Amino acid sequence: MGIHRQLLYVLLVVFSIFLAPPVHCLDARVRVQLFASSGNADSGGAVEYTLSPPFRVVAPLPLSVLTGDDWHLVLDSAGHQVRLRPSAKGALNARVRQAGLSGAELQLAPLGKPLSLHVVSAGIAKKTRLINASVFLRFSGGGLKMIAELPTADYVAGVVGSESPPQFHQEALKAQSVLVQNWLSCRDSRKVIADDTSTMAYLGSDYARTQCQEAVRATLSSQLRERVSRRLLKPYFHSTCAGRLSTANLFQGKPGSSARPATCQTCQASPFYLQHLEKVSVAEVERKLSLELLHIDECDAAGRPLKVSVRQRGRVKIVSGYNLWLLIGQKLGWGVVPGLAYSFEKQGGTYLFRSRGAGHGIGYCQWGGHGLAVKGKNYVEILRFYFPDAVLSNKAKLG
Ligand SMILES: [Zn+2]
Repeated sequence: MGIHRQLLYVLLVVFSIFLAPPVHCLDARVRVQLFASSGNADSGGAVEYTLSPPFRVVAPLPLSVLTGDDWHLVLDSAGHQVRLRPSAKGALNARVRQAGLSGAELQLAPLGKPLSLHVVSAGIAKKTRLINASVFLRFSGGGLKMIAELPTADYVAGVVGSESPPQFHQEALKAQSVLVQNWLSCRDSRKVIADDTSTMAYLGSDYARTQCQEAVRATLSSQLRERVSRRLLKPYFHSTCAGRLSTANLFQGKPGSSARPATCQTCQASPFYLQHLEKVSVAEVERKLSLELLHIDECDAAGRPLKVSVRQRGRVKIVSGYNLWLLIGQKLGWGVVPGLAYSFEKQGGTYLFRSRGAGHGIGYCQWGGHGLAVKGKNYVEILRFYFPDAVLSNKAKLG
């Protein structure tokens, strides 16, 4: 290679470095807080965790638990101490005391099959997670946190499976996989990820179905970037828009930038597409929300409330439609108003809630993506439909 060609080559490499968008490598492993919405002592009531053998105690002292009944993790009344004990009294109790496990941080690992973890907390139904990775049990703020540490690719596949019903088309799974990776790249990597829908649902290793693992492999290193700025796109997604999409302005109680909402015509197969009606007694609503619902003042172009008048402690005030929807979901249950396209009216002693769709209606409509895939669109075309101002790049590395 002559000196001029070498110089040209060096210049090309330097320019390509400056022109290329920054590469965001995802960490090889992620830490996920399990049972984030119900499984810690913040709920105020008794919390009981159960583990089914076999499993391995890695730290503080190695111990294999091979047979016997389920083992219980019990917080004391002040939430300051944890005890690991078999549900039936017997010789294993003595082994726990001898091993010095009472009150310590525990690291558990699967033994031959995924860890089977269960939680029961006051007023909340029992939940189960199968985790094929190490789980750390530690104290924080007077409560117990269960944190799984698992390979990022396994986590992405698990989220894709948790966020997608089993019948979803493979191309829809790929689109979801890209969005999950984008979300991981955008987040503050120092923070532990919650497993509930406040971030993304992660329901355990068994949700990383073979099709989801294939979708992750096919989209590994793919990222959505804003077309003009080339910045990573912060992806929003939801279950069902029921026909009309909103913009992220909705989170701030502001109307979308366009007078006409973007439409989605492929989510009709969703169980949430048709209007959902729910009646709840006025007494229950006002006791649990600590406010009286008055009327909706303003909606965005897609029909989602921006501002709602409520009465609280005798004073009328305006709250954001989005924040009120979150409050209703948290206090009355997410099944009462599944979609942010909601309205309400007082009929005698009851509130009648009407809603369309499921989720906030911003960004990617999961059932709509599935519908497009059924019509023959691939995941690139699907993502282009919901994110017309973004481009797909393959510059990142996963793991
Ligand atoms: Zn839709």
